[in-house]
Amino acid sequence: MRILVAEDDQLMQGALRLGLENSGYAVDVIDNGTAAASALIDVDYDLLLLDLGLPGLDGTEVLRQVRKSGRSLPIIVITARDTIEDKIEGLDLGANDYITKPFDFRELDARIRAFLRKDTFGNKMEIVHGPIRFVTTSREVFINDVAAELTPREVAVLELLLQKVGRMVRKRQMVEHVGTWDEEPSDNAMEIVVHRLRRKLEACGIKISTVRGFGYMLDEWSQA
Ligand code: CA
Repeated sequence: MRILVAEDDQLMQGALRLGLENSGYAVDVIDNGTAAASALIDVDYDLLLLDLGLPGLDGTEVLRQVRKSGRSLPIIVITARDTIEDKIEGLDLGANDYITKPFDFRELDARIRAFLRKDTFGNKMEIVHGPIRFVTTSREVFINDVAAELTPREVAVLELLLQKVGRMVRKRQMVEHVGTWDEEPSDNAMEIVVHRLRRKLEACGIKISTVRGFGYMLDEWSQA
């Protein structure tokens, strides 16, 4: 899962990056509204955290543009503007939620989980695929009820594959969701992540197919 943080306060930027990375998300941070709007065109982010008071394009204008372009990603507004009118305006412009500064990171983190769970897995708390159980709140993976030892990137790839069982996930899409501007995995690195994940899952009969040149697919579960 990849999150864009549009926030110009440096302390807040650092705290958000640290917290979100600890929660296992790929994070890009940007400090002005104009760049945020174009980043949202370039990358298929899973969620946007948007400060309203931004240099360049104001946060409300970013909201307007994102929704006008038809992008449906969840947006949580971070704001110091805590008047009722500001909150109503933000929500009416297409934000899904807002959080007022100062806030407790744990609360923001929980709201992010709630939105991603709804958006990605239709509010399901757990995804079961054969012997795999993926807990959407904690992003833990169990195989036959034993915690699987997967790296954050392996979990991120499995999460994408579980969203599209029996359908292909493009390699490019994996790179976009797993990487960040600072750390974009090469196609080669992505192949290695998938290879390792496949090795960890094949013992229990889970199969990840390669669609040569295009991407990967988690095969439908069948009790062979
Ligand atoms: Ca600001």
